[in-house]
Amino acid sequence: MPAATATHETTKPPMAKTQRILIIEDEPDITEVLKYNLEKAHFQVQSAGTGEAGLATATETLPDLVLLDLMLPGMDGLEVCKRLRAEARTRDIRIVMLTARGAESDVVVGLTLGADDYVVKPFSTSELLARIKAVLRRAEPREGEPDKDMLRAGPVAIDLRRHEVRLAGEPLELTLSEFKLLSFLVRRKGRVFTRDQLLDAVVGPDVFVTARNIDVHVAALRKKLGEHGAAIVTVRGVGYRFEEP
Ligand code: CA
Repeated sequence: MPAATATHETTKPPMAKTQRILIIEDEPDITEVLKYNLEKAHFQVQSAGTGEAGLATATETLPDLVLLDLMLPGMDGLEVCKRLRAEARTRDIRIVMLTARGAESDVVVGLTLGADDYVVKPFSTSELLARIKAVLRRAEPREGEPDKDMLRAGPVAIDLRRHEVRLAGEPLELTLSEFKLLSFLVRRKGRVFTRDQLLDAVVGPDVFVTARNIDVHVAALRKKLGEHGAAIVTVRGVGYRFEEP
């Protein structure tokens, strides 16, 4: 009976969509290793050897994520990042930058341009896969979408509507700036932000305070979080991220 067959079909669990990754990297050896490991992890992989080619491929095929080497001949990775974010068509593609050790200033620029995360070369495959999966999993709050009322991360529970924070069930007294900073980081846990980005989130772009003020707020927050203070991780030369304790 055709109807029964149809019913049976619909009760099967939906097939997970294969996620597509575009590697933009000029060193063939690295591309080869990345491709091998990503395919083994069940991603569909494309690659491009220059920034120009990568940008064209990204615009044409709209991958879920771009692995973007910053040091490219011709158009460099930061420019590719900027152009991907500037176009409505490619704006939502996730970007993980591949950077050289000691290139923190590039990382800061890349994050400011809208890259989602970065991995420092040489990296382990497991580290890279963990970062990629975290970025793909992340549900960013959309522009104009109301906040969910509750945020949770380990022992931290934030009630956004009532402006209340509990730590392992106990109420935590925070200043308004500390509350905003903690909510911002917890909502985007795992993602690294520069001090300027955090400053914009906490006090707004029009208020003049130095980025170092963020360090003061972070220090105060860590103290109040006590044994869980280490959840706010310092990313040397770049900024901060919140890791679920
Ligand atoms: Ca390179």
